[in-house]
Amino acid sequence: MSLDRLHDELITCRRCPRLVEWRERVGREKRAAYREWEYWARPVPGFGDPQARLLVFGLAPGAHGSNRTGRPFTGDASGDFLYPALYRAGLANQPLSRHRGDGLELHGVYITASVRCAPPDNKPLPEESRNCSSWTDLELPLLPQVRVYLALGKIAHDALLAYHGLRKAAYPFAHGSEHDLGGRVLLSSYHVSRQNTNTGKLTAPMFDAVLERAKALAGLSGKKG
Ligand code: SF4
Repeated sequence: MSLDRLHDELITCRRCPRLVEWRERVGREKRAAYREWEYWARPVPGFGDPQARLLVFGLAPGAHGSNRTGRPFTGDASGDFLYPALYRAGLANQPLSRHRGDGLELHGVYITASVRCAPPDNKPLPEESRNCSSWTDLELPLLPQVRVYLALGKIAHDALLAYHGLRKAAYPFAHGSEHDLGGRVLLSSYHVSRQNTNTGKLTAPMFDAVLERAKALAGLSGKKG
């Protein structure tokens, strides 16, 4: 199985009825500012470098962000925080992420999420997270060079522990926490959501520091262009 083949299968997934209804309804009704867009309104495949040493693991697509554009963290406030940070770290060729054909490339980084369809209020149900873990089980083995996970938020952190069959209590989440999972390091950060970045819970310098630590652990130097 290749990543491309996995993505082809993923985008047909309809396992979670509530999320299928929501992602498609949002895509039909649209936000006024995006009424000219044809929303993606399907599961959002991972994006980035297949030889990545760093895996950025998010929560779920934003209703009018990646559920509209079809690429993780593309077209919303979370992406407007994440991609400039990746660019500053030399892990992306440009800071802007607007649509799937905008020329964005990642160096040594791959981005995916614990849930691949937009949930109402950005909150997947536990059973939806469990359903989508089967895609994580298929996707992560296709990224054999990964040495570091950067989990964005506790749900992503816990999903990666579940993937490795580890107990949450033994590997607690905190911003900047680091856990050796045996061959891979789980590094975690507050999520890059507008809710966190607008309130100052997560600032650009805080996130830059986490990315520098991730690069060091992954053996990535970062390059521009
Ligand atoms: S959240 Fe995951 S399991 Fe559920 S419908 Fe979307 S892709 Fe399928």
